[in-house]
Amino acid sequence: MQAAHKEHLYKLLVIGDLGVGKTSIIKRYVHQNFSSHYRATIGVDFALKVLHWDPETVVRLQLWDIAGQERFGNMTRVYYREAMGAFIVFDVTRPATFEAVTKWKNDLDSKLSLPNGKPVSVVLLANKCDQGKDVLTNNGLKMDQFCKEHGFVGWFETSAKENINIDEASRCLVKHILANE
Ligand code: GDP
Ligand code: MG
Repeated sequence: MQAAHKEHLYKLLVIGDLGVGKTSIIKRYVHQNFSSHYRATIGVDFALKVLHWDPETVVRLQLWDIAGQERFGNMTRVYYREAMGAFIVFDVTRPATFEAVTKWKNDLDSKLSLPNGKPVSVVLLANKCDQGKDVLTNNGLKMDQFCKEHGFVGWFETSAKENINIDEASRCLVKHILANE
């Protein structure tokens, strides 16, 4: 007999201020590469990542890259619609991008909730940790507390450049989404 086969398709948002590394994280995760050429995204980009979660479960992640509107610090309801989770990204070398994190979280929570009314799962990414300038997160306890207070399911120091913790962060998000269904 064949094992039951479950397939999930999840729309995931990647949001945060301009230049924090959103596009680079998606590229690293989906295409296994990194480029240091700055190219602001114009229009909405999608990337698909397929995870063989366990022998019975396939998870397809549709990653939505922000489209240049990040300079306004908020997105439209239409853009958020039907997302099942999100990554909010900041740049550890630029404190202002961390200050923007709560603004992004509030924008998301005010415009999107799951069909059951619960807030969507959100993982916080402290990106560019390869830069060695991380004064923001070196106190992990403070970050844990911040996540608790603001309703993040977890946080990770990441590097799109060095491929650090991106898979781990995604697994954490997917685990929470699966548990919420
Ligand atoms: P976005 O505007 O949030 O999509 O940011 P990008 O992905 O375009 O990245 C902005 C700049 O930061 C680019 O020059 C990237 O090469 C650089 N960058 C992105 N991620 C990292 C990282 O993890 N480490 C380092 N050192 N640079 C990064
Ligand atoms: Mg971009």
